[in-house]
Amino acid sequence: MKLVFATGNKGKLREAREILGPGVELVCPADLGIDADLPETAMTLKENSIQKAEALRAMCGLDCFADDTGLEVDALGGAPGAHAARFAVDVARRDGLPLPVDHDFSANIDTLLRELEKHPGEARTARFRSVVTLLAGGERHFFEGTLEGRIAYGRSGSGGFGYDPVFIADDYPDRSVAELPEDVKNSISHRGKALRAMAAWLNEHEI
Ligand code: IMP
Repeated sequence: MKLVFATGNKGKLREAREILGPGVELVCPADLGIDADLPETAMTLKENSIQKAEALRAMCGLDCFADDTGLEVDALGGAPGAHAARFAVDVARRDGLPLPVDHDFSANIDTLLRELEKHPGEARTARFRSVVTLLAGGERHFFEGTLEGRIAYGRSGSGGFGYDPVFIADDYPDRSVAELPEDVKNSISHRGKALRAMAAWLNEHEI
C-alpha cells in the first residue's frame, strides 16, 4: 500500500520506512510535489496530528499519517508539552524579552535549562510523547508512544535532533539520546513506539 507521511524531516522518514518495512510504499509531501507548511495550531498533540493529517489528505487525496511530539517536564508542570517547538518564543513573550527565531532548537534548549534552574533540587524527570494519526480507508486511527527520562544539566552528543542533547532516557541513563546510535534511539523512542503500533495495526488490517 502507498502511504504519505506528513513530514519534511528526512530522519523521521528514514525511521518510519525502517519500521513500516517493504510492504508500505512510504512517500513524503515533497515526493508528491506538495510544498506547504502543514498547520499545527491546536492545543494538544492529538489535535495537532489530526490537523496535519487532514490538511495533507485534503492536498493529496491519499491515505496518510502525521505525528506530533511533545516534551513534558514534571518540574515545569508538564511544559513545554505540545508547544515544545516554540518554547523559547513562548517564554520570551511571557517575560517580555526579544523574541528568538521560531523553532530554533538551540534557543529552545537554552530556555529549558534556564527554566529548570528556577527549580533547584527538584526531580528533572520528563518524557517525550508522540501521537500518530493515521487516515486510512476513510477512518481515523490513533497510536501513541512515550519515552521516559530526565533533563540533563547541559548538552552532550551530536546525533538526533531537537531536545536529544539534553534528554537522558531511562533505558540508557549514562548518556544523552544525542549520543545513541540512530537505530538504538529508534528502538526506544516515543515515535518509534507509536509507529510500531501503527505498523502492527496495518499488518492486521487490509486497507
Ligand atoms: P514535532 O512533533 O516534530 O513538531 O516536534 C515538536 C518538538 O519536539 C520540536 O521542537 C522537536 O524538535 C521536538 N522533538 C520531536 N521529536 C523529538 C525527538 O525525537 N527528540 C528530541 N526532540 C524531539
